Amino acid sequence: MPGPGFSAFGEQERANVLAVLDRWARRRDAFGDPGEAETVRDFERATAGKFGADHCLALNSGTSALIAALAGLGIGPGDEVIVPGYMFVATIAAVVHSGADPVLAEVDESLTLDPVDVRARITPRTRAILPVHMLGAPADLAALTAIAEEHGLALVEDCAQAAGGSYRGRRLGTIGAVGAFSLNHFKVITALDGGFLLTGDPKLFQRAYSFHDQGWFPYREDVGDGDLLVGMNLRLSELNAAVGLAQVAKLDAILARLRARKRALVEEVGDLPGVRRRPLHDADGECATLAVYLFDDARHAEATAGLLGATTLLDSPKHYYGGLPELAAFGRGERGPVPFRAPINPATEVDFGPGALPRTDDVLGRSVALAVGVSDDYLGAGFGLTARGDGAEVVEVAARFREAVLAG
Ligand SMILES: *Cc1c(COP(=O)(O)O)cnc(C)c1O
Repeated sequence: MPGPGFSAFGEQERANVLAVLDRWARRRDAFGDPGEAETVRDFERATAGKFGADHCLALNSGTSALIAALAGLGIGPGDEVIVPGYMFVATIAAVVHSGADPVLAEVDESLTLDPVDVRARITPRTRAILPVHMLGAPADLAALTAIAEEHGLALVEDCAQAAGGSYRGRRLGTIGAVGAFSLNHFKVITALDGGFLLTGDPKLFQRAYSFHDQGWFPYREDVGDGDLLVGMNLRLSELNAAVGLAQVAKLDAILARLRARKRALVEEVGDLPGVRRRPLHDADGECATLAVYLFDDARHAEATAGLLGATTLLDSPKHYYGGLPELAAFGRGERGPVPFRAPINPATEVDFGPGALPRTDDVLGRSVALAVGVSDDYLGAGFGLTARGDGAEVVEVAARFREAVLAG
């Protein structure tokens, strides 16, 4: 299944891809540049409209969206960016490759960046706070926005797992200075691969655009207002944009189904001893891609997950800082794991090994996630509902979870 958007693949995706092929085929005798990336522009317009953002920039991945966002903000060597210890490795990789130093902070019981711990980790070098809306649920954006404003920091939202979600009525990704999204096939909607960023800041947009497209000004102009950058090629392809365009139109329907399915599952599971649902900062705004249960006791969580053929969230390769030996080596000052940059600044606190964030370790070790629309072993979501299942599946999955909890 991977993600709900992938499960919703259909005629429209196919028609859009064929239209791109046909349009480009008609241009094949062009002598010069055969033309504009019109489908990419259509995707950006549709997405900006859907999310209520001034600017949307399509990119070839969520990772690219994150690094272009940092380039847009002018973050680099000498700077620190605060990131949660529960994320996806790409969140930290974007910071590391920007030249800035990542600073790990704890997550709260919602499994997103803990504002109290963020405050404690601010130094004179801090430039940005990078919350990740993990497993479809918004971080504590009111508290994080207040801290960012107080200290003059940029808020960068990693929305890769939470496309379409909202916080207090506003779409995620439009609340901070910039929001970065992924369109890989595990996410809420997909272009098979791809990503995009949203921002209301025209200068950030220009810099991100130039960075993602060889230093051109938007849209491929030689000259323009703003900064000259040595860029890269992080562009989304027309074919992927065609798929993404069909998926953006389905976003609200996909979310409505996820939310209804999760509501039914949670109701069917009911109350259980020693277990409660993870608290959410805005329950109406979560994407409902997973139902996370928080146990009082780690052994109980492990036993329950084991009976279901799953794991606790502590066993989430590439999503838990303590499972990133390459990051630990970078923190020790080794040069090998990170090409293109100097080792981490020795003035920074750099214990990236397991145990560095005890509260994060504790809460992940007590958490078990049931799939609702995203199934991903690497996300600790190896058991639960399939995206296209019916009411009988809800009853069966809930019964198996209840039995496992009671037997564990
Ligand atoms: C998937 C993901 C990314 C990276 O997206 P890609 O499109 O795979 O590059 C970044 N952050 C988080 C939290 C993710 O889940």
